[in-house]
Amino acid sequence: MTAPELFDTHAHLHVPEFADDLDAVQERARAAGVTRVVTIGTDVATTTAAIALAERDDRTWATAGIHPHDAAEADEAAFAEIERLAHHPRVVAIGEIGLDYFRNLSPPDVQARTFRRLLELARRLGKPAVMHCRDAHPETLTILEEERVREVGGIMHCFSGDVAIARRCLDAGLLISLAGPVTYPNARALPDVARFVPGDRLVVETDCPFLPPQGYRGRRNEPAYLALTAARVAELRGEPLAALGPRMSDNARRLFRVD
Ligand SMILES: [Zn+2]
Ligand SMILES: [Zn+2]
Repeated sequence: MTAPELFDTHAHLHVPEFADDLDAVQERARAAGVTRVVTIGTDVATTTAAIALAERDDRTWATAGIHPHDAAEADEAAFAEIERLAHHPRVVAIGEIGLDYFRNLSPPDVQARTFRRLLELARRLGKPAVMHCRDAHPETLTILEEERVREVGGIMHCFSGDVAIARRCLDAGLLISLAGPVTYPNARALPDVARFVPGDRLVVETDCPFLPPQGYRGRRNEPAYLALTAARVAELRGEPLAALGPRMSDNARRLFRVD
């Protein structure tokens, strides 16, 4: 039996954690049915690395963005370089961008300003946005609505809210991406969210090397493990993975406009 086709909508494959065995990681991903990956930039250096990887592999695409953790470091030269990189044909989205009020590694007002500025870039380029949001859902949703993310679409990555927040994200025009935490015994509202989101608005991701699914916790995450997260989501929804996997993959391909 061949594994159902899956799309890892959020990975960080270009980071040093994968430098020594990336070929083997990508081989295991393909064997697990994970045929497409978007590798996510978080600043100028990682966006550059993500594009370099996407240029070498026709089933890997990149994003260009400044993570809220890195917002305080971003000067005018950094914004100019992200804008230049964002035009690259292998860059399928602007992100990850957003607000992280859990760790607050950059001041909240700087995070918000950076987030708005890159949403404006997404609109100008007509590329979708990939959002990071931690402990900042009301503020993030307000900005997404004011900056009209609906015009380009996007993904709320590693969704960590409840059904009410999921509904607002859907109303704002976003897809919802579930990651490893949906497999955890203490998944809180995530099983309800997995059942609530319509099948044409749902995607999955690893966020590797972070957040491995249950069974691999404490280890490096990798795209092959997406199969476990997708299987858990299918189980929660009472749908066969053979149908849900390709459907979620189609959702991602439509948003990112890739084959
Ligand atoms: Zn993130
Ligand atoms: Zn990430």
